[in-house]
Parts: sequence; C-alpha cells; structure tokens
Amino acid sequence: METHAKVVIIGGGIVGCSILFHLAKHGWKDVVLLERSELTSGSSWHAAGLVHTLSSDPNVSLMQNYTINLYKEIERISGQAVGLHTTGGLYLASTPERLDFLKQERSKARYLGLDQEFISLDEVARLNPLIDTRKYLGALYDPIDGHVDPSGATYAFAKAARHFGARYYRHVPVIETNQRADGSWDVVTRDDTINAEIIVNAAGLWAREVGHLAGIDLPVQPMEHHYLITDKIPELQGVGHELPSGIDYEGNFYFREEMGGLILGTYEPTSTPWMIDGTPQDFGHELLNPDLERISERLEIAFDRIPALASAGIKNVINGPFTFGPDGNPMIGPVPGMRNYWVAVGVMAGFCQAGGVGLCMAEWMINGEPSINVAAMDIARFGDYATREYGTIKSAENYERRFLLTYPNEELPAGRKQKTTALYDRLVARGAVMGVSFGLEHALWFAGDPAKAKETPSYRRSNAFEHVAEEVAAVRSNVGAIEIANFAKHEFNGPGAEEFLDSLLAGRLPKIGRLALTPMLTPKGTLCGDLTVARLDSETFFIFGSGVAQAMHQRWFEDHLPRTGVTYHNRSNNWHGIALSGPKSRELLSRITRENVSADGFKFQDIRRTTVGGVPVMLVRLSFSGELGYEIYCAPQYQLKLFEQIEEAGSDLGLRLYGARTLMSLRLEKSWGVWSLDYRSDFTAAESGLDCFVRFENHENFIGREAAVVERERGPEKRFATFVVETDDIDAHGNEAILHNAECVGYVTSGGYGHRVGKSIALGYVPSDLVSDDLAFEIELLGERKPATIVMNPLYDADGGRMRS
Ligand SMILES: Cc1cc2nc3c(=O)[nH]c(=O)nc-3n(C[C@H](O)[C@H](O)[C@H](O)COP(=O)(O)OP(=O)(O)OC[C@H]3O[C@@H](n4cnc5c(N)ncnc54)[C@H](O)[C@@H]3O)c2cc1C
Repeated sequence: METHAKVVIIGGGIVGCSILFHLAKHGWKDVVLLERSELTSGSSWHAAGLVHTLSSDPNVSLMQNYTINLYKEIERISGQAVGLHTTGGLYLASTPERLDFLKQERSKARYLGLDQEFISLDEVARLNPLIDTRKYLGALYDPIDGHVDPSGATYAFAKAARHFGARYYRHVPVIETNQRADGSWDVVTRDDTINAEIIVNAAGLWAREVGHLAGIDLPVQPMEHHYLITDKIPELQGVGHELPSGIDYEGNFYFREEMGGLILGTYEPTSTPWMIDGTPQDFGHELLNPDLERISERLEIAFDRIPALASAGIKNVINGPFTFGPDGNPMIGPVPGMRNYWVAVGVMAGFCQAGGVGLCMAEWMINGEPSINVAAMDIARFGDYATREYGTIKSAENYERRFLLTYPNEELPAGRKQKTTALYDRLVARGAVMGVSFGLEHALWFAGDPAKAKETPSYRRSNAFEHVAEEVAAVRSNVGAIEIANFAKHEFNGPGAEEFLDSLLAGRLPKIGRLALTPMLTPKGTLCGDLTVARLDSETFFIFGSGVAQAMHQRWFEDHLPRTGVTYHNRSNNWHGIALSGPKSRELLSRITRENVSADGFKFQDIRRTTVGGVPVMLVRLSFSGELGYEIYCAPQYQLKLFEQIEEAGSDLGLRLYGARTLMSLRLEKSWGVWSLDYRSDFTAAESGLDCFVRFENHENFIGREAAVVERERGPEKRFATFVVETDDIDAHGNEAILHNAECVGYVTSGGYGHRVGKSIALGYVPSDLVSDDLAFEIELLGERKPATIVMNPLYDADGGRMRS
C-alpha cells in the first residue's frame, strides 16, 4: 500500500465509494479508500434500495435527482450492473394537510425543474392495482423514482473510481488517525500507515468510532429499521409492468415491487436507537432480530391501504441498522475547528443521496466550494450543543418522523432547552411560544396567557397571526423589546485585524464607534455572509451575523486567519442582549442610561461601550424592525437585570415584548432579506441587491472581487424582488414557484404578512429583465396561483425616515 495520498476516505459504503469516484472523476487521482471488511459491510448491503427525489430542502432534492441520474453513468463506466429499475414513484396523501404538503412540493419542483406531476387516483389504480385509492385524496408522481441494487451500486461507484485512477483496499481497518504538526494525517491500519493531506470519515455505522480516533464526537445514531419482503402476490400476475415505488406520508411507510411480491418498510412511532454506546467493531454482514410487534401499528395502516398485503405470505423480514443525524439530513464537509478533517456521515438515504454527497464533497475539496448551496447538509449547521446524547434524541425523533411533514411554523419537541438564556423562565411566564435556533431557545411570539402558548402547525395563517399583529402595532406606535441572544457575535483583535477584515469583507470598514453593513463573498462571487461589522477601537472589531450560520462563518474566518496579527473568537455565547424598537425606544433607553442617546448624541449606526440599566453593555443604534431602535448587548449574567430595568422603565410607554415572528414580518415590509433564506450562497451580491454595500474603489484585494466586478459589468441574470400577493388566509413562506405568463420564472425565498401595511408579501428571485412593477406574476400557494406584483421600493417607510429619526 502507498505511504502517502492526497485524500484517504475511511469507509467503503455507498457514501465513501461515491466520494472516491467523484474526487477521481474531477481530477484528484491520488485518492485512496480504506474499508475494514468488504465494501457495503455497514448499512449499505441490506438497504431496500429505493431512490426518490422528494426532500424538504430544495438543494437536497436536486442532489437526489443528480444521484438517480448518475446510476446509468457509473454502470457504463464500471461495467458493474447497478440494477436500476426506473419504475416511477407515487407520493400519496390521505389527509388534506398531506395533500397541501404535496401541492407545496409540486410548486417547489416546478422551479427546481423536477418532473413531478399530480396524477388522478384512477391513474394510481392503473399503475398500482393493489392500492385502495379510496383511502387517498391525491398523488404526486415522479417518473425517475425507482430502486437500485444496493451492492451493485456501491461496487459500481468503487470500480468507476478505479477507472479514473483512484484506489480502494478491502480488509484494512483504520485503527488510528493521528495529526501531524503540518496538518496532515497519519492514517494507521493494522499493517501500514498512510500519510494523507485530507481524511474523510465516511464510516456510516461506525462514524462515531472513527470520529473518536480523531477526538471528535459526532451527533449521529444508528437506528433499527424493518422492512418485509412478501411472497408472490397473485393480483400482480398479468399487470404487465413493474409497479411504481410509493410513499404513504401519513402511514410513514414505503413500498415497491420485488420478484412478483412487495417490499414494505415502515418508520414506527416509537423508534429503537441501536448501540447507543457505540457500534461493535466485530459487527459485520449481519442483521438484527426482527420484532414485528414494534411495527404492527404501521403494518395495519399499510394493510388497510394495500389490502393484498394482509393476505400475502411474508418471505423475509429485514431488521438492519442505519445512521441518522439530528435533523435527518446528511452531515458533510470540513469539521469546524479541525484541519483537513472532513466528514460525510449521517447519510440516512444513501441510495438517494450518495451521488450528490460525493459530488458536493469533491467540488468543495477541489474548488473550495460546492456548486450548489449545501447549508442544509453542512456539518457546521450544528454547534457544540449537538452532543452525542442530543444526537441520539434528535435522530430518534427524525426516524419517527421520516415521512411525516413538518409545517413551516412547526418547532419539533425533542432535545429542547438544550441552550437557554437567563430570560427563558421570564419569557415563558409572559406567554412566549418558544422556538429554537442553533440549539438556543428564543421567543417566537407571545400569547399573553402561558396556558395558551401553543401554535397550531399549519401552512395557513395560524393562531399566532393576531398576536403578531398586536406585537407589530406596539412596535409601530410605542416600543417593543425582543431578546437578541441568538444573533452571532464574532470578535477580532490585533494590529492586523483591519487589514484582515478588509480582505475578507466586500464592504467598507467603519470608523471607530461606527457600524457598516457588508456582504462577504466566496472567490466565485457568491454570498457567504450578510454581516454587520463594528469597530470598537483601532484594533477591535465585532461582526454581528446570522446565529444559525455562526459555525460556518467561524470556519470561514479561521480558514482565512493569518498566523499573526489577528486573533478571532466566536463570542455568540458571551454576548446576549435585548433590542428596543419603536418610536418610544429612545425615551425608554434614556430613562435607564446616563449616556446621551439623543438623535445627535447617538447617531444611526453608532456603537459604544457604556452602561444601560446599570450593567455594562455594547450599545448599538440599529434595528431590523425598520423603526427607530437600539440593540443592547450584555454578558449573559447581566441580561436579567437589563430585562427588569427595561420592563420597569417601559411600563408607561406601552412596552410590549415581541418575538421572532414579528421581527420577520417587520423586515419583509422593508424588503430586507435574511441570511439562510433570502441571502445564501445560491446568490451573488448583485443578484441579492447587497452589491450596494460592496466597496469597489480603493479596495483591491477582497475575496470575490474579480467575480463581483465581472458581474457588475455584465449585470446579474436574476434579481431579488419584493412581491405583494393577493391572497386571504395563506402567505408564501419560501420555495413557492413564481410564474409569469404561466411559466415558472423564479421562486420565493421567504414570505409572510406585513401587518403595518396590511399586505401579504413574498421575497424572491426572478430574471433581471422581469423586475418591473408593471408586469403580472402569479405565486403558486398550495396549488393555487395567486396574482402578485413587484414593488420597486420598500412598502414601509421607503426613505428610512423613521429608522433614522
Ligand atoms: C433496512 C434498511 C433499509 C434501507 N433502505 C434504504 C432505501 O430504500 N433507500 C436508501 O436510500 N437508503 C436506504 N437505507 C439507508 C442506507 O442503507 C444508508 O443510508 C447507507 O447505507 C449509508 O451508507 P454509508 O456509506 O454512509 O454507511 P455504511 O454502509 O455503514 O458504510 C460504512 C463503511 O465504513 C466501513 N468502516 C467503518 N469503520 C471503519 C474503519 N475503522 N476502517 C475502515 N472502514 C471502516 C464499514 O465497514 C462500512 O463498510 C436503508 C437502510 C436499512 C438499514
């Protein structure tokens, strides 16, 4: 075996083999995969092999589409049959809510260019005569769905990788991974050691154990999973075609034809995490003891909907483990805080996703960034709160909800209160409905009465609507207070901080005591941050940014940090805080600080270290509400005191607590996007409109400059736009198709109701030449095309007079 490789991949399941293939195909030949046993020896060999495109995240759907289309290619290159059966796939809805979900998916598929279409129940019966269509309200059909032979597909990736010059070795367990001072890794096996510039943990069922070799705990958990294979079913004789595969969203089960019978798999409501304390090293090509009792409730639903199953003999019952992560999506990419250590773990639908995972990993390693936005799969979407225990709890929740829909306004219950602030109990006592963001609890809206603090999950306007309207009214007329602990705060210090940030950020750096808004770009000119930078003194800067993206940003900052001259710390947990918003916020603030906060004494975009409510703070004059406002950041131990002072001082000013839902509504009326929804690496500065903050003059060396200049000269192909939508009880929330002349021309990135202006608003991207307020558009909301028009200026306080007052 060689003693050096550019990349060593640990694990020869479908995921590791796909990464090997993509690296080699894209030009990195010096890549090696090590497998402890035979290829497929983890969960890959016993999978049911179903492949489908539908997923909650649009980019994951695209990746699944890519994976399915790749199978023919790897079969051709490798000469290894993958057993691809393109049967088409049925997504079946048995309740109005699930039909809404499918309609929402159809709208998304339209802009993604996926070929999904609703078919009639008669057509369902023709395609699959075993289904009792009376039990369903509708069906979406995807012609490219089907199934593959799991072993064939895995070997095809490995052999195709070899065709491009990569190598794989079987029966070579990795027993140590030791990092050298130069950042490379010594990958130690029983007999040899390979020095690798980069290592990839793709160890599937053993991802945790391989992680431990490098001192990391990955929040993944293998889960037991059953599927049955029936004997031949007489009703299938003479059907004349292979049945399409299918998913029943309410029953949480899937099925496909197998040798004249059916395969039926279910995700039971009480899951069974497997080997919580670790996967045994000697576990191999084995199955677990079946326990049909566990899945009996789901089987009954399936028997009711596919009656022939009830009388079919069961030929085989498979119970095998496979690995989930905390939100059900894969965890891929470079691990924050580590050098040259990558993962591709928690890939729970490997046969749907491995191709896309391999492609994204290879592009990311070779080009520095993947060609699609992988935020929904990035390992850095989790922080240190995602412990191994958290991983088990959330993986179990995800397993149990595998095909159950999560509403856009729904917050999942498992693993809650993992991180709380000093205000948690107070906010709950004031009737807060809590949500979670990067593990931290935060208020979504206030019901007033804690007994009523519960939101109905829905695609339509929920019971939060009236409460949010009241919170908005208070912010507009008086003053509102919102906890802002969940914003990210990054601190940079040192004589080299200015030069470093100047090269990292596309915008200008502010003077001492001031703030500036700035995008951060990748070398290709796509957005990797939408940030507020503050200069406290000549060598101290703070960057305020998205809380959920903080570990991604931290990784970016650390990757670019020079060896000397600048220090960086993620201070998000060190600075909590409260924002005041509304015309009376200055009055309130002036009652609890000795600082001069008059319009001239503390100007828009000023920042100052001072005291408020008697505690040390960083006081900022900025507000995401579009009203006069202040952000007051303090250490967590001071937050309760600050809160009490604010409540007391605001009692006769009409002070009202407000939550994230209100903030999201307020900013829509200002046409301000938010990171991860409207601003993300799918878009460039010019497309998003954030180019107005880019400083091109006398700013030669910032990352992404070249690409941004080219785009400025050429003009962006698409642009961010604000739409007013004519609708009654439902608002856009993201991923809906935007149509013009009945053709899909773009999609919504976020939306909701603007209570100050009394309009339903959607933000999204459409071709630049269509950004005009005299064209007619439609936005497809739950299957209905609602008329929409673009507004060229913010709907509320277009000149910013209130905010700057
Ligand atoms: C019953 C069942 C049905 C399923 N049905 C489907 C389906 O229909 N469609 C679908 O898309 N997915 C399905 N899955 C899920 C699918 O099997 C997994 O998503 C997929 O196998 C994950 O692949 P992987 O490469 O990440 O992990 P694994 O297959 O677990 O591969 C990891 C590999 O790493 C190797 N390894 C571990 N430690 C070391 C070490 N120290 N040194 C060297 N090598 C090491 C292991 O031997 C193993 O071969 C199913 C799973 C089960 C259990």
